[in-house]
Amino acid sequence: MNSLQEKFLDLKRDRKAVVLAHNYQPKEIQEVADYVGDSLGLSYEAQKAKGECILFCGVHFMAETAKIVNPEKKVLMPDLNAGCSLADSCPADELQAYRNQNPGLYIVSYVNCTAAVKAQSDVICTSGNAERIVQRVPKDREILFLPDRNLGDWVMEKTGRKMRLWDGDCYVHMEFTASSIDRIRREHPEARVVAHPECTRAVRALADEVCSTEKMVGYCKNSSARTFIVVTEEGMLHRLRREMPDREFIAGPTDRCACGECRYMKMNTLEKAYGALESMSSEVLLSQEVIEKAKAPIERMLDWSRK
Ligand code: SF4
Repeated sequence: MNSLQEKFLDLKRDRKAVVLAHNYQPKEIQEVADYVGDSLGLSYEAQKAKGECILFCGVHFMAETAKIVNPEKKVLMPDLNAGCSLADSCPADELQAYRNQNPGLYIVSYVNCTAAVKAQSDVICTSGNAERIVQRVPKDREILFLPDRNLGDWVMEKTGRKMRLWDGDCYVHMEFTASSIDRIRREHPEARVVAHPECTRAVRALADEVCSTEKMVGYCKNSSARTFIVVTEEGMLHRLRREMPDREFIAGPTDRCACGECRYMKMNTLEKAYGALESMSSEVLLSQEVIEKAKAPIERMLDWSRK
């Protein structure tokens, strides 16, 4: 642990802050967080957080979700500008216009969308529970799945349920290509390939397992293999290496570089996290109306995921 991490932990105690970090966060942040996980796990943790404030180390839509499920808490971020290309691909006004032209659709929104989009949704899902959530939607309703068309396509494969897909994607997962993954597979024939469902169908077809970041942990722990090629944002490798130091984890390469790094996730640094707690600034603010409207589809997800 370095000296800034130690100072950060002292300040965290003084401020009675709960620090939540996504699996894609830089290693220094993951090491000082109270909880590290995927969007679903982080939502549960945010809902039950007891401290005086939540420092949410992830991207903006995730911190918004924390505010929606626990509105009494002050929710801070290391950097309020940490956005998401996937959330940006579905602006709330475009969704509103689409719904006006296509009334009656059941809107299933992947958690990677803004609070204003969640407020127009019937239910939210994460990559970990998307299959289960879609199966719970009444059979007589036509589904619009948004904003990630790759995740939606994967859910259609898994459930056999036809859905309209919004044309959005995550720029990080789009950079993995069939040729880049095929190449690394041939270099490490003994390795198992685990890929996130935000990858394209061509990349998913090369994987031994397609699952959410949280399920990747369980898959690798339970596998007899010792080496894994991990096809998702590279921050995930820190967690896997920390939890399974006896195994080898190789970052899935893109055609451009040896890792898939999200520029938004990496806008958060430990320095900024310290600064946010020190000044108690960088607060995530949402109107009461959006909080109330977005709460129902999130709670439906949390409820459907528990049962
Ligand atoms: Fe958004 Fe993709 Fe970055 Fe996740 S990895 S925050 S989906 S741009």
